[in-house]
Amino acid sequence: QYPGLAGRRVLVTGASSGLGDHFARVFAAQGAHVVVAARRQDRVQALAAEIAAKGGAATAIALDVADAAQVDQALADLDLDIVINNAGTTVSAAALDHDATVIDQIIDTNLKGVFHVARAAAQSMKDRGRGGSIVNIASILSHRVAGHASAYAASKGGVLQLTRALALEWARYGIRVNALCPGYIETELNRDFFASPAGEALIKRVPQRQLGQPEDLDGALLLLASDLGRFMTGADIAVDGGHL
Ligand code: NDP
Repeated sequence: QYPGLAGRRVLVTGASSGLGDHFARVFAAQGAHVVVAARRQDRVQALAAEIAAKGGAATAIALDVADAAQVDQALADLDLDIVINNAGTTVSAAALDHDATVIDQIIDTNLKGVFHVARAAAQSMKDRGRGGSIVNIASILSHRVAGHASAYAASKGGVLQLTRALALEWARYGIRVNALCPGYIETELNRDFFASPAGEALIKRVPQRQLGQPEDLDGALLLLASDLGRFMTGADIAVDGGHL
């Protein structure tokens, strides 16, 4: 068990699939009360019910992180100790084919969404005077670039700078803000892509020449979120099988 997680209230955004679903189960297994959020309410309700059936504590909420007013309203009474800012989206296309709607969707979710959720959570953490921990899920593309991912790389690069800026401002309130930068992690949605020739070519560029699994992120995630990482803020940890 990691220190400072049992009984704490942990929000996981984008918990309706992939890494967010996994992260919610990880915190529930640590004895935390998880608040699982996403736009697809049926999916997070099913996840919360599954966690509860296994003896864990979970609440499901519908949340669009790109809607600042909705985020403020939803988070006001959640009494959060920890936030995993995981909701994210991407569209694979050449920069010249990214129309304004796609650019808005990616930046609004991945960068502005992270900011909205962090602000709303930090306001209530500050008001309660108990501090807290915010972990922003960034990406290998926070540090590097790849073809057909310009808006995504820009959004995730922005998440790192946002993380550092918020850490600097909120340290005085006892709120830590860190980033986790996953490399290529196999989830249901990308499994077919990574089995295709283009996906296999990407995997060959990873020094360890393999995809990560969601569990490979657990150590870094729990370190940043829990009291084990109490002297860490404004930091980022890459979990990516080596530098690409
Ligand atoms: P998925 O597509 O499986 O999950 C994305 C999640 O984000 C879904 O639960 C989706 O739920 C939610 N989401 C999307 N838009 C919004 C929104 N506007 N408001 C609220 N929730 C939203 O992707 P992954 O699990 O792979 O990715 C999770 C995070 O990890 C992302 O930030 C991604 O960029 C990052 N990442 C993933 C990597 C990987 O290899 N898998 C590598 C590096 C980073 P819903 O549609 O129901 O709202």
